[in-house]
Amino acid sequence: MSLKKFAKMFSVEPGTKLDLSKNDLRDTSYFESRDEAERSLREDAEAIDELQDRLFAEGKQSLLLVLQATDAAGKDGTIRKVFGPVDPLGLRAHSFKKPTPEELSHDFLWRVHKKVPAKGEIAIFNRSHYEDVLVVRVHGLVDDDVIEARYDQINSFEQLLSSNDTRIIKVFLQVSKEEQRERLQERVDIPAKRWKFNQGDLEERKLWDQYMQAFEIALERCSTAWAPWYVIPADRNWYRNAVVARLVRLTLEDMDPKYPEPDFDPKGIKVK
Ligand code: AMP
Ligand code: MG
Repeated sequence: MSLKKFAKMFSVEPGTKLDLSKNDLRDTSYFESRDEAERSLREDAEAIDELQDRLFAEGKQSLLLVLQATDAAGKDGTIRKVFGPVDPLGLRAHSFKKPTPEELSHDFLWRVHKKVPAKGEIAIFNRSHYEDVLVVRVHGLVDDDVIEARYDQINSFEQLLSSNDTRIIKVFLQVSKEEQRERLQERVDIPAKRWKFNQGDLEERKLWDQYMQAFEIALERCSTAWAPWYVIPADRNWYRNAVVARLVRLTLEDMDPKYPEPDFDPKGIKVK
């Protein structure tokens, strides 16, 4: 399937009105079966590794993958599964936490701009500058007019990156409220998962509808030709992983990185 066809199925068409509550989050229709999705994930992850090698060797363009979701939607797991085989030297993942006092004393994009990928690199944002129009909006952490201005500021920022040969893809992993309930409960019940449990997540869960509304606004206003948003049904991990891997692979293939031509004649050199 081409990136165009994939985008038709999963991307937010710029200028459209979103209703996230309509999405079927258990949908698995992109793949015929779980077996096929798991095979596809393995193949795509290998292909991503090879494409990343070419991207690094070429050194002319970069890829930025932004991951946003509610708690327990599986951002960490997605990164592990999709990028598992990729050479860590060409990959950078960064998690954006609650801003530090120093970060708060700058504009909201300051800490983000420092983490964008250099030419030849793939960068993954586990949360991102979108927190500044999501959690910040839901909790009213800054004035309304400041938030209002941020959507255009984000679009301009992403356009700047794009014109500097950074390809941007943004993924909203959408889980249902019921699925989140089960996953948070697992974090309480399963000892190896307890470190992930955060009492604060229960407070955020109470604000579910406000978060969905904030996501709708952000995705509507910031899905652009140069940095599209994709909405991936994420109630089933195997499906979520395979679809994200396909998106990353199709995007890298579309970027078509090429090994540089050697600046010597390989036929004329014999290593002794
Ligand atoms: P986690 O990713 O689970 O480690 O949690 C990180 C927390 O930091 C989440 O609750 C985010 O909403 C929060 N966070 C990230 N960026 C911001 C921001 N710009 N302003 C306020 N909170 C943020
Ligand atoms: Mg958390």
